[in-house]
Amino acid sequence: MNQLIRCIPCNEIFARTPYDQWPEYEYVSGSAPEPYRTVKKDEFQVFLKHHRNHPMEDLEILEDSFVSEKPYSEPTKVSYFKATNGKEKFVIKRFRKRIDEPLSYQLIQGDYSLKLLRFEIQPEEIIKQLKRELDNPPLPEHQLEAFLKLYQQVLKTIDIKNLERIPEDSTHPLEIYYKMDEVSLAYLLRNCRVIFKGQEYNEIEAFIHRQREDGVLLLKAIYQIQIVEAAQSKKETLPILHAIEGKKYVEKK
Ligand SMILES: [Zn+2]
Repeated sequence: MNQLIRCIPCNEIFARTPYDQWPEYEYVSGSAPEPYRTVKKDEFQVFLKHHRNHPMEDLEILEDSFVSEKPYSEPTKVSYFKATNGKEKFVIKRFRKRIDEPLSYQLIQGDYSLKLLRFEIQPEEIIKQLKRELDNPPLPEHQLEAFLKLYQQVLKTIDIKNLERIPEDSTHPLEIYYKMDEVSLAYLLRNCRVIFKGQEYNEIEAFIHRQREDGVLLLKAIYQIQIVEAAQSKKETLPILHAIEGKKYVEKK
């Protein structure tokens, strides 16, 4: 885990990694056949020099607080996580502008929350799966549509707070899947009796049971990261630098 150090008056942070004392490889464009050159630098020493005699403190990263706006595989994504000094909470924004740049960290005094943008069923996946599984004889179009319409109606009665989140890895960090609750399941099955009769009903019931736990009947929620900044006090604290209590890191000689 990274160690986070905050310069209190400047409100800047440094994230120490186990590697930050190692030589860094820097990309040099157009210099084939050796496009990388080694740069020996100790970023932490640079940080300490820049903030000489400033009081510092260690921040503790809050577990499970990482969120990101883009898929995990995206190298230039912006991520946020929460950290605390024991008294105040902070949001740390981690980003890199270009793939060949080191990660940057920005400290935001405040907090973030996830705002629900959309809550929906997966219509295309449901139709595809119904056609695949109930194909002897295939379901007529009007029944497929009636099923979708019914499931949309069920969705409207659901409070997302009562649902169980599916922990499976989504490729996108802000897309979360939920399993429909028992009450909604009963409502769906009861109304399916209006659309499907006899053997057809038995098949759709079996389909629903097969697909509701981890299949196409999962409900999909899309969230947005909302950052709430606390009032800044940086300007006022600067003149009384010496009065701020903090830790001192000493530069290497
Ligand atoms: Zn400083």
